[in-house]
Amino acid sequence: MPQKPAPAKRKAAPRDSLFLTNVGQLLTLRTASPKSSPRRGSDLNELGIINDGAVLCIGGKIVSVGNTKDALHDPWIRKHRKQITEIDCAGKVVVPGFVDSHTHPVFVSPRLVDFEKRIEGASYEQIAAAGGGIRSSLEAVRNAARPALKMKVLGVLQDMAAHGTTTVEAKSGYGLTLESELKSLEAICEAALGWPGTVVPTLLGAHVVPKEFHGRSQKYVEIVCKEMIPRAARRNLAQFVDVFCDEGAFAPEETQQIFSAAQAHGLSVRAHMGQLSETALAPFLRFDPVSLDHMDHVNDDDVRQLAKRNTVVTLVPGANYFLGLKTYPDARRFIDAGVPVALATDYNPGTSPTISMPMAMSLACTQMKMSPAEAIAAATINGAWAIRLAEGKGSIEPGKAADLAVFDVEDYREIAYWYGANHCWMTVLNGVIATCQ
Ligand SMILES: [Zn+2]
Repeated sequence: MPQKPAPAKRKAAPRDSLFLTNVGQLLTLRTASPKSSPRRGSDLNELGIINDGAVLCIGGKIVSVGNTKDALHDPWIRKHRKQITEIDCAGKVVVPGFVDSHTHPVFVSPRLVDFEKRIEGASYEQIAAAGGGIRSSLEAVRNAARPALKMKVLGVLQDMAAHGTTTVEAKSGYGLTLESELKSLEAICEAALGWPGTVVPTLLGAHVVPKEFHGRSQKYVEIVCKEMIPRAARRNLAQFVDVFCDEGAFAPEETQQIFSAAQAHGLSVRAHMGQLSETALAPFLRFDPVSLDHMDHVNDDDVRQLAKRNTVVTLVPGANYFLGLKTYPDARRFIDAGVPVALATDYNPGTSPTISMPMAMSLACTQMKMSPAEAIAAATINGAWAIRLAEGKGSIEPGKAADLAVFDVEDYREIAYWYGANHCWMTVLNGVIATCQ
């Protein structure tokens, strides 16, 4: 083992020590030289694989990483082996717990009518115009009691963990009144307390203009800027402010206005961008968005600008799949240009009802021509960058959180290969074990 466990002088091993051995492939995601920016280009293929690996975690943190043979000779481990929880991985694959950096879990019901209409040929815009889409989820969220929303979110987080996800960015955005947006954020924060993983809440009050503000979007933007953002910031209910900037949602000028308000209240910004139509990115880059998500439509100049920055492009191919689109975001164009990309589920009731990061990775490989290795890096370390948690998440290295996903496969490429089946065997969330099967 490259590093000795820190508490070597303790008489007994702490109760929460966890020792994984005989890992067939341990994907550490560590690189030859430490990186202070998201992975890009060929670095996305560097997985830092240790064969027959071992990981020791104490107190929710990773303490040492190496191969099993060396670990079993480690004096501290030899002395305390009977007291630590040892898990024989018997050749399974261990990856950093997935970081799902784009989800919308606060809603009540699936949108089954929209599902059928879309199958019959209606477009996203036609469904929205007929009263479906985002607006159709509002009433139920506005009427729901906070504990009921909390239980919905908690159930989703547990399902996500069963598929290997240990860190989740969770957005509000199906209330769209001051009260119901704050209620949604509270539900996220309360659910997070009941889940051993890590949750990052995002205010998405600017998801769509609710119908009572039809034709007066500026009035609604003012509520977002002057009421929702200040209240959410003051109560520490959100770490990010997100805006759906597109045709039929918020205009670029409105998005800048909301970004300015977010920054004035100390919140970082991110946006749904380029999903339905292209928007020039230059005006937004001064706000240093942590991530721009979807990005199906983008021009070459903006791709070149993004390659120079740490703003992550978060790709959500589940939305393209579920909408039945024939085209997907051009991941190769971003990666080959040096733009850092992440993968997320975009879990939501209208366009991407999946909690499965392995499914998102499979779509990334088959539809966006990302390599299985690139998909792993995009779903872990770059996802962590997309929510500003890369210092403590996204790779298996001493000092980082004990966030691990154990897959019952022999080769990491199988994670994206066996699509539609869950091969996650166990997840470790901040040192806490959740069995999956
Ligand atoms: Zn989204």
